[in-house]
Amino acid sequence: MNRSAQPDFAVLGGGLCGRLVAWRLAGQGHRVALYERGDAAGSQAAAWVAAAMLAPLAEAASAELLITRLGASSLDTWPQVLAELPEPVFFQRNGTLVVWHHADRTEAPLFERRVRSNAPADLLDGGFVTLTGAQVGAAEPALAGRFNQGWLLPREGQLDNRQVLAALAAGLAERGVETHWNTPVDEQSLPPARITIDCRGLGAKPVLPTLRGIRGEVARVHAPGINLTRPVRLLHPRYPLYIAPKQNDLYVIGATEVEGEDMSPVSVRSALELLSAAFSVHPGFGEARILELNSQCRPTLPDHRPALLWDGARTLRVNGLYRHGYMIVPEVADEAVRFASALLDGRIGDADAFAEWRRDARWSELFQQDRAREPA
Ligand SMILES: Cc1cc2nc3c(=O)[nH]c(=O)nc-3n(C[C@H](O)[C@H](O)[C@H](O)COP(=O)(O)OP(=O)(O)OC[C@H]3O[C@@H](n4cnc5c(N)ncnc54)[C@H](O)[C@@H]3O)c2cc1C
Repeated sequence: MNRSAQPDFAVLGGGLCGRLVAWRLAGQGHRVALYERGDAAGSQAAAWVAAAMLAPLAEAASAELLITRLGASSLDTWPQVLAELPEPVFFQRNGTLVVWHHADRTEAPLFERRVRSNAPADLLDGGFVTLTGAQVGAAEPALAGRFNQGWLLPREGQLDNRQVLAALAAGLAERGVETHWNTPVDEQSLPPARITIDCRGLGAKPVLPTLRGIRGEVARVHAPGINLTRPVRLLHPRYPLYIAPKQNDLYVIGATEVEGEDMSPVSVRSALELLSAAFSVHPGFGEARILELNSQCRPTLPDHRPALLWDGARTLRVNGLYRHGYMIVPEVADEAVRFASALLDGRIGDADAFAEWRRDARWSELFQQDRAREPA
């Protein structure tokens, strides 16, 4: 391990991606420092508010093939990541249930058409199962008699976002990462390091002007006795909703999707929409207790894709994880770690080497050279 004055890597931003990247690099024996403007819990990250569903097929209704593929591979990788972390994390792969009320039945063929045209055949095969009303009740007894039809996407998963953030923080400590919580970093105060990896999410906007925030609002409720066993998505023309059951009768109900970097508290309208829609899925939510109403912004690039942006010198930016951060981060972080290691040991130093690396990369579409930031 290199114990010279400056660390091998400075990771800026200790939300979801920064923690995972820093932890992976430290696992390879590198000396890593991580700088996060918020606390060790991660409460200033989009990752803190997220529902953390791992649903590549359900998301294929609005996401392109790259995202679906990243999500499917990452679903297989998550258990290995979690097995190496020093604290337990709730993770399940019990599928997603998609339902709709009779009045909104025209949404169903639209959703199905989008998923079937965007997703690859190998994921659809056995991964998208049509259910009758009785089968919905058999799959999810809490919803027996409530829906005439549905789809079960049996391979999808979810995890507990805050447990992941906590377990990664413990993992960083275990691997000797130098963590600087409550330490904002900007371009005028960059910490010393041989390579900088910028994972600041929306906080990277000063250097990524096309980055934007897409606001999302969620409710966290405690609802004993309902006993949903998997995330349920409700199709609706105006208020599509998911209800993600976590441990101990905790449910994350989300999420609105509103253009604009508005970090203000949840609006009354959104709260009404989310909670009424949940109540319409199961009346037991009427007696649930609201633990939190929370909002955050998803870091989003113009093409809604994640990107690994190299500045042509010593900085890699990992951003644009949008609404798919948990779903795709194992693969995105691994690709970032491979590239950052190659930068460190001098295998990439110019545009030709970058082009070659990009060509041979597992996820070549992620790579971009941030020419606007290239040194003159
Ligand atoms: C309502 C909502 C629901 C979501 N649901 C899901 C879901 O079900 N499934 C899924 O896969 N994804 C979901 N997401 C998306 C997911 O949360 C994001 O894609 C993911 O958090 C992005 O990771 P990140 O590390 O890039 O950004 P973040 O998690 O936002 O982390 C960035 C970190 O950088 C820090 N930072 C910013 N500026 C600075 C600075 N100047 N100096 C130091 N630190 C700084 C921030 O404090 C933050 O901790 C959801 C997001 C929202 C908002």
